[in-house]
Amino acid sequence: MQSKGILMVVSGFAGVGKGTVIKELLSTQSQYTLSVSATTRAPRPGEVDGVNYFFRTREEFEQMIHENGLIEHAEYVGNYYGTPKAYVEEQLNLGKNVILEIEIQGAMNIKKQFPEAVLIFILPPDAKTLKERLVGRGTETMEVIEKRMNRACQEAEGIEEYDYVVVNDEVPQCAMRIHEIIEAEKAKAKKNLSLIESIRNGLKNL
Ligand code: 5GP
Repeated sequence: MQSKGILMVVSGFAGVGKGTVIKELLSTQSQYTLSVSATTRAPRPGEVDGVNYFFRTREEFEQMIHENGLIEHAEYVGNYYGTPKAYVEEQLNLGKNVILEIEIQGAMNIKKQFPEAVLIFILPPDAKTLKERLVGRGTETMEVIEKRMNRACQEAEGIEEYDYVVVNDEVPQCAMRIHEIIEAEKAKAKKNLSLIESIRNGLKNL
């Protein structure tokens, strides 16, 4: 039987480069898949509905909550964001490691519901680099950038609740470190009980 994949949360401050690191992981390792979230935020130039997000109105989003279609949802800088349930369950059952790229409230919610989930927080090399990246990206107004920096300060208080932190100095190395964390998680003895059992039985029958 195919063993279940690992549910992973990848968080990090706006501008830290989470998206780029996740893209690198997806393009170099086939056993990962990214869950596409729903949001009420407006698409940025180049973002495509169903690829980057499922872009929804507030009414449509509230309907999804009402129908129990989301594993978790949270409000972030004035918009709703949430993880659709069906895809995550299906992919975990297929043995894929499912990445949720979500903020901290969502991450804590996932940990409560799925204690075996692996929570990873991506840190910038230093605080100054973060603001420079966010301004340099040019996708947000100064007002939104300020709100996102304030949110980063709040989120910084909760990082200890994550299982791992990785620094995004170089994208390929950061993606590789995440992959190694997941490999180590998969190798945990309690995640390999049926393998251990079959070796035990084999020994008895020698
Ligand atoms: P952005 O607007 O920059 O795409 O995302 C804003 C924040 O929302 C990011 O921290 C991102 O990780 C988070 N986010 C994206 N999707 C979800 C989701 O489904 N649930 C939660 N809780 N946060 C999300």
